[in-house]
Amino acid sequence: MKLIIPGLWSIDEIGDTVHCYLFEWQGGLTLIDAGYPGDIHKILDALVANGRALHSVRRIIITHGDIDHVGAAAKLKRATGAVVGCHSVEKVLLEHPSKRVPAALWMRPIWAGMRLLPQYNVLPVTPDELYVDGQTLPEGLIVVHTPGHSPGHISLLHRQKRLLIVGDALNNRGGQLQLPPALFTPDMTNAQRSVWKLAKKYGDDFDVAVFGHGEPLLQNASHRIKAMVSQMFSTEL
Ligand SMILES: [Zn+2]
Repeated sequence: MKLIIPGLWSIDEIGDTVHCYLFEWQGGLTLIDAGYPGDIHKILDALVANGRALHSVRRIIITHGDIDHVGAAAKLKRATGAVVGCHSVEKVLLEHPSKRVPAALWMRPIWAGMRLLPQYNVLPVTPDELYVDGQTLPEGLIVVHTPGHSPGHISLLHRQKRLLIVGDALNNRGGQLQLPPALFTPDMTNAQRSVWKLAKKYGDDFDVAVFGHGEPLLQNASHRIKAMVSQMFSTEL
């Protein structure tokens, strides 16, 4: 595991295609996202190898119901006894993973075929907790509804740590802040509005940002996102 800031690790044992995070607080451990279905053993092994008892994982927060974020959630829930939480609107995708289809029509049959492979076969999981925008979780994480990439996508803000867990509202692949890919983003207008919301409503509350995809921004993250938003909306005017 790789320490990002005190209390937050990236479980880099799953590689760097997608990131999942471990948040440590006084009530125990919280996982944010759950990798691909095939990442289950890598995540469990990483916890044990780093001295974390599996039962100390109390909560698994899913930013959205994509295969690379909810993949191992069902088995992680069983192995740790943790509760699983997501935005109320995203519940249906966790319970019925096949409902998450690519935005691009031509991609859908290919996707349906891929889902038959074991490494892409997401087991359904019933969320124990359903969140709404603005809710503060026991960890001190504030749920920020950032729809667009998926209808119930959330980011998570921790004001004391000046940390934003972005999920896929934005990615930072190759060190370039970008909107989520159009192929898998059914509502790009809302995806843009969500980034605007992060910048305008919470832009003074964080310096560090971590992403589902791409390297963390360890300083000036809000300035970078604000700059992106100004450019995004000025080019449209
Ligand atoms: Zn993703």
